Amino acid sequence: MKKHNYSAGPCILPQEVFEKSAQAILNFNNSDLSLLEISHRSKDFVAVMDDARALVLELLGLENKGYQALFLAGGASLEFLMVPYNLMKVDGKAAYLDTGTWANNAIKEAKHFGETLVVGSSKEANYNYIPKNIEIPTDASYFHCTSNNTIFGTQMKSFPKTNIPVVCDMSSDIFSRTLDFSQFDIIYAGAQKNMGPAGTTLVVIKEEILGKTGRYIPSMLDYEKHIKAESMYNTPPVFPVYASLLTLQWLKNLGG
Ligand SMILES: *Cc1c(COP(=O)(O)O)cnc(C)c1O
Repeated sequence: MKKHNYSAGPCILPQEVFEKSAQAILNFNNSDLSLLEISHRSKDFVAVMDDARALVLELLGLENKGYQALFLAGGASLEFLMVPYNLMKVDGKAAYLDTGTWANNAIKEAKHFGETLVVGSSKEANYNYIPKNIEIPTDASYFHCTSNNTIFGTQMKSFPKTNIPVVCDMSSDIFSRTLDFSQFDIIYAGAQKNMGPAGTTLVVIKEEILGKTGRYIPSMLDYEKHIKAESMYNTPPVFPVYASLLTLQWLKNLGG
């Protein structure tokens, strides 16, 4: 009998995702080649990437609203660094909500780039609640929060209103609930909690917030370069992206 694993991640995936992705490893789209031995620039794989990126925006209700979806490598943990690299203005500051282990890890990375204000924290109560009535300075480059605190088990039910960009780490609750996702400017999530195998990270970005830091960004860490390259700046993690696409299709067939 198939067993269940209740841990946060890597997660249980739908059986049909395993069946279809196993088939694609043996013979992808009846090409007589494996998904793992075709070019990522081939028509068949480009279609996988395009479909996965489009389906993310469709499921989040973000089509035609100026957003782009990327499938990057490096895990959600790399986004802790890429977010300040791409958003924190030189001599600027950023605002963070400290709600647990992952929020803390994000704060640690931001500190390399500039003033990192912790605008609310539940640390003193071992992170057993989400701080309310927080004040977000309007001159900060962005506000960062964690929608679901995987280790402490608290989840944000609503999000502060502010006119600076809002960045949210949704690694462990993406695609698990309906929200107005247009209240976020960047959403990121490691695939392995809710979407697919480890090895890719979904990043959804409102394009207009980029390009404003005044700092040089190394190519692999530059969201604009990844967007321009349609999420194929370098060889993408083809199997995790394909399996994620299958999970998203499964989800869409269930009603989204
Ligand atoms: C698991 C987790 C991460 C870390 O993800 P990696 O892909 O392993 O880097 C970050 N944030 C949250 C909320 C998580 O649950």
